[in-house]
Amino acid sequence: MSLLTVGSVAFDAIETPFGKTDKIVGGAATYIALSASYFTQKNRMVAVVGGDFPQAMIETFHNHNINTEGLEIVKEGKTFFWSGRYHADMNSRDTLDTQLNVFEHFDPTIPESYQDTHYLMLGNMIPALQAKTLSLLTNRPKFVMLDTMNLWIDIALDDLKDIISKVDCVTINDEEARMLTGEYSLRKAARKVMEMGPSTLIIKKGEHGALLFKDDRIFFCPALPLEDVFDPTGAGDTFAGGFIGYLAKTDDLSFENMKRAIIYGSAMASFCVEKFGTERILNLTETEIDNRVMEFVQLASFEIN
Ligand code: AMP
Repeated sequence: MSLLTVGSVAFDAIETPFGKTDKIVGGAATYIALSASYFTQKNRMVAVVGGDFPQAMIETFHNHNINTEGLEIVKEGKTFFWSGRYHADMNSRDTLDTQLNVFEHFDPTIPESYQDTHYLMLGNMIPALQAKTLSLLTNRPKFVMLDTMNLWIDIALDDLKDIISKVDCVTINDEEARMLTGEYSLRKAARKVMEMGPSTLIIKKGEHGALLFKDDRIFFCPALPLEDVFDPTGAGDTFAGGFIGYLAKTDDLSFENMKRAIIYGSAMASFCVEKFGTERILNLTETEIDNRVMEFVQLASFEIN
């Protein structure tokens, strides 16, 4: 099934206790689409970049079967830039700089050839633009998923609640779930988010895994305990890309299949953090992914009499 991803395509500058990068290609849509490309062949992207964006990366997208007809290039503009520094625990980070550049005046448009999109991933960006993208699709996709961040809960809460009411699935981290609902208990927070509209919710807990809520059922997905985490940037997006990519591949929205999808998402995220930026998710093999998924199976399965 076809998957359309919308969100930021960016330059990132990252500092972690292990090192520092100059401008490297990042952005929510970049991580999501690359990750999903390991599962579905019909990948599309709606985003904006400036004339400074490397052609080589656009070719990389094409090599991953990501159609970029919806990637607008504003020749005289500069690509969105984000810079962050991770704390020693690698779970929390400070944003050092955000330069919206061409993202500031981004007005998403949907190429005609994308109108038959079945799965839609609204990556992290201004909630009103997420809503606009959904409204531009004449046939509502079968499954719409949304990611967001604390910034939009702070400054665009009404718009965020509006788009949340229109999607099937939301993915947020534990801190954002608490911020959005005012509930400390994640079960209560989950109930409140789902009362806003979505029938499925994923609450990410960083290195402590993720919780999948669907209707009245819950599933816990672990994160793989890795010896070295190099750079967590994009882990949440890579996770989302693996999850929705697997759903688009299998086209099965049952709870049992979503459990598998969330394990694939978590496996993809575990690769992402092993190197800086997108480096580790550029050249994965099917065998590597399958072996990693088996590690999850072994990690969490047990027998009981
Ligand atoms: P994650 O680590 O999964 O939260 O995502 C990191 C990515 O989000 C980076 O590659 C950034 O370019 C992108 N990003 C950071 N801030 C924003 C923002 N305000 N809007 C859209 N994308 C952002």
